[in-house]
Amino acid sequence: MTPTNENLFEAAGRVIAGGVNSPVRAWKSVGGDPVFASHAKGSRIYDSTGKEYIDYVLSWGPMILGHAHPDVIDAICQATRHGTSFGAPTDAETQMAKLISEAIPSIQRVRMTSSGTEAAMTAVRLARGHTGRKKIIKFDGCYHGHTDSLLIKAGSGVTTLGIPGSPGIPEELAKLTLSLPYNDPSALEEAFQCYTDQLAAVIVEPVAGNMGVVVPQEGFLKKLRELTSENGTVLIFDEVITGFRFFFGGYQNLIGIEPDLTCLGKIIGGGLPVGALGGKKEIMEQLAPTGDVYQAGTLSGNPLAMSAGIATLKILQWKAASYKSMSDLADGLCQEMEKLFAGHGIAACINRIYSMFTVFFQEGPVNDLNSALKSDTGLYARYFHGMLKNRIWLAPSQFEAGFLSFAHTAEDMERTLDACSKTLKNL
Ligand SMILES: *Cc1c(COP(=O)(O)O)cnc(C)c1O
Repeated sequence: MTPTNENLFEAAGRVIAGGVNSPVRAWKSVGGDPVFASHAKGSRIYDSTGKEYIDYVLSWGPMILGHAHPDVIDAICQATRHGTSFGAPTDAETQMAKLISEAIPSIQRVRMTSSGTEAAMTAVRLARGHTGRKKIIKFDGCYHGHTDSLLIKAGSGVTTLGIPGSPGIPEELAKLTLSLPYNDPSALEEAFQCYTDQLAAVIVEPVAGNMGVVVPQEGFLKKLRELTSENGTVLIFDEVITGFRFFFGGYQNLIGIEPDLTCLGKIIGGGLPVGALGGKKEIMEQLAPTGDVYQAGTLSGNPLAMSAGIATLKILQWKAASYKSMSDLADGLCQEMEKLFAGHGIAACINRIYSMFTVFFQEGPVNDLNSALKSDTGLYARYFHGMLKNRIWLAPSQFEAGFLSFAHTAEDMERTLDACSKTLKNL
């Protein structure tokens, strides 16, 4: 007998804290028991009872080629037969670093990690080591993994230092992180005036994906580059989502702004646990062993992870033209969805950039966390469950991005619109 999702979640809860290994998977913000995945192929994901869904989560971004791409699977299998971990350098790591640094010119040196969290954590430590300063700036609604210094909520007012985003984070540490509104150059200027010689780093998602998709407004990132350069502050672009998502390179290439350090993850691991930190040679070489800022990892640059990452990046490089078709499909989908929402008299604001989008249940515009939070999350939950019933797999939270892959087709878009239309009728 096939166990139901309910059975599986109950069993998981008896041995796993909260039944999941990452909180969003528990569906707390949409309600109900999470659907357990069994396998996936291309644009489709299958649950433990055999139901097929069109997947717009794609493991939260990494599966840009679609699930179980044959070349990626072959590369992993081949690597596996040669041994799964050595704790010694391998040529695959050099190949991976070359692919990354050739695609993103600001990255002159790379260090591989096992997660995006580690990349961001190391970026902050390195910026502090490099500048000899303590304070950092992040932006409300941006997520950089769950490291203490970056899991911080805004204090009240622009120049009030941050408060812990979770119990267990010391206030003393939270006070070193300033959290500012996204897309607000004057808040930035004020903060730099107030803490001129104290700011080690500014870390930003150059396109925000973790409050739902929020696109940087004209001049915001440029102002950020100017202020950080003038003040000797390290500018960190967290491109864990945006790296290789829009074309073969980083979002920084598209806008012509070079950060000092870049965090990568998700896509570059091809579905295996990977992160990377890269940037200017003179900063990166301050990491041990050439420098004295410590960073390490037993499984960093792991041969299976490198094989999946290299295979993924090579296919992306080769099939670069597919980025345009993927973006065009997303454009068409979002335009048609906008019409459906309007036709049903439901307020919806769709933020889209290339193949990445969020439907916010509100009039909009959504330019920062405060505006994102005006969304009707109850309505989102009903929409989510309606779409799921119609076999569309969306993120179980209003404040997440949806993604397309190279494997999504025009027929997938039609089925999605049909599901959307059915869902809206019963909303
Ligand atoms: C997912 C994400 C991270 C964290 O990566 P993990 O691999 O989950 O640790 C960091 N920054 C951004 C922008 C992300 O989306």
